Amino acid sequence: MEIEEQAALTSGADFWHTRAVADVPAVMVTDGPHGVRKQVVGEGLGLLASEPSTCFPPAVAMGSTWDPELVRRVGAALGQECLAMDVAVLLGPGINLKRTPLGGRNFEYFSEDPILTGVLATEWVAGLQSKGVGASLKHFAMNSQETDRMRVSADVDERTLREMYLRAFQRVVQRARPWTVMCSYNRINGVYASQHRWLLTDVLRGEWGYEGVLVSDWGAVVDRVEAVRAGLDLTMPGPDDAGDRDLAAAVRAGSLPAAALQTAASRVESLVRRAVAAATPGATYDADAHHALAREAASRGIVLLKNDGGLLPLAAGEPSIAVIGEQARSPRYQGGGSSLINPTRLDNALDEITAHATGTVRFAAGYDDPEAAAALARESSVAIVFAGSEEETEGSDRTSLELPAAHRALIEKVAAANPRTVVVLSNGAVIRTGPWDAAVPALVEGWLLGQAGGGAIADVLFGVVNPSGRLTETIPVKLADHPSYLDFPGEQGHVRYGEGIHVGYRGFDAREQEVAYPFGFGLSYTTFEYSGLSVSTVDGGLEVRVSVANTGSRDGREVVQVYTSIGSSRVRRAPRSSRRLRVCRSPRASPPRSC
Ligand code: BGC
Repeated sequence: MEIEEQAALTSGADFWHTRAVADVPAVMVTDGPHGVRKQVVGEGLGLLASEPSTCFPPAVAMGSTWDPELVRRVGAALGQECLAMDVAVLLGPGINLKRTPLGGRNFEYFSEDPILTGVLATEWVAGLQSKGVGASLKHFAMNSQETDRMRVSADVDERTLREMYLRAFQRVVQRARPWTVMCSYNRINGVYASQHRWLLTDVLRGEWGYEGVLVSDWGAVVDRVEAVRAGLDLTMPGPDDAGDRDLAAAVRAGSLPAAALQTAASRVESLVRRAVAAATPGATYDADAHHALAREAASRGIVLLKNDGGLLPLAAGEPSIAVIGEQARSPRYQGGGSSLINPTRLDNALDEITAHATGTVRFAAGYDDPEAAAALARESSVAIVFAGSEEETEGSDRTSLELPAAHRALIEKVAAANPRTVVVLSNGAVIRTGPWDAAVPALVEGWLLGQAGGGAIADVLFGVVNPSGRLTETIPVKLADHPSYLDFPGEQGHVRYGEGIHVGYRGFDAREQEVAYPFGFGLSYTTFEYSGLSVSTVDGGLEVRVSVANTGSRDGREVVQVYTSIGSSRVRRAPRSSRRLRVCRSPRASPPRSC
């Protein structure tokens, strides 16, 4: 291949296609991550117009399932939809750590914990790629905020970088071998990720053995020659004819080794050939089955935070239910930005509650008319208030953890009117639950649940599904308690990762800081008993065994979480770090089962 052809292959043809060069055809890449956002191009249509596809729960809810097997099934379903839409690479999963609860894209990420993130994202990639569709592990690396995201330098020490922020990437790269990895926009210790040779070549390829394609985030490349020199293969979007010419000129002038460009071009070629070989013309997917899977996953991502007096689950025969809050009818089910999916259909909780209940169900929109909502609550046997964030989106961080004032006022009024009040939250990142949660007996964290979230919420409220979701991020008492608080969002182009390895719960633990709801927390409608814990050394690692018995009266799932600590260490360590997890499914009143 000529130098010019090689250069042309390393930038896109347009927003979503690689470039056809010589006998190498073009293939399509598209967002991601929780659905296939295949853009529809047409007059008057914006960048976000897309073909319908299943909107699975965003990562915030998938993460809360803690269930690798379920995440793999969703990955495979996404792969099938890609095949049906002739998409070669789906731009996900997003695995940046939730360093701050204000992160605008937290809803696209799994957790504040790198092990949990790595375990789940490995399965997501494996599921997707099992269909012959490539993943794009993003955003590599240190893209834990949206403020100044195109430029900000994440200033971090190497230990924190490796132990916290690179750890999930390493796990997924080594275990699932994603076809592509997407570099982030930001700088790391002053160097753009797209030009960071140590990160892209020494660590990712050298230490971790990565052999796939390194693609830029859309518009992340500042200097094509420096990017290729650092190890980046594909610049998106395209076309970038001027950059292609710069590359060819640099090779001809001897300022860029010919082998660097050759290698990048041949990696892109291999990706395309692999995708072409896997393409399945005529592939289809079963939209009903995928909707059902989206509902299953959503119900498993819901976290029951509070259930005083066993108010939940509701009996189907609950005499009169007041459903309050516009979000019950117009659900918040995904966030804004590049991950915005045009769903194949959309459930809402109001209809789904009505379908489950045999008593009366009445609705009040609530936020603008709290008095009317409170009156309805007063004359109902139970009130369910839907409240939540108004927007989380790529491109900007949030400024507060508070619920909108109107939602808080509504909760307070309804809870005062009916002591049997349940609050269901919809939010893409942590919101502050105090002080209003003191007045409500039952609190359900419904995150952003995708297109089938309405049905999933009803399933949990009525006990058709016994909640087993667990928090993957700490809910602080207040924002200022958070370990990242003093070093976010940074200033003058720099954000210092001052809390070091003490990200999320590691920081709360180390400072013995009180929290509203801790990492890993979540209630169930049944009870579990642990017994017979044993720890042994196996192959240089630890094997932990425990028996778990369901001692309650309902079938349920328990997420067994193992944390370790090192008692004496010459370097400062987190009081506990997650190691492993296992979801055990256990029928009611079952004998102990080894996990
Ligand atoms: C986002 C990526 C996304 C890409 C393509 C970027 O702005 O950061 O996550 O995949 O756009 O839409």
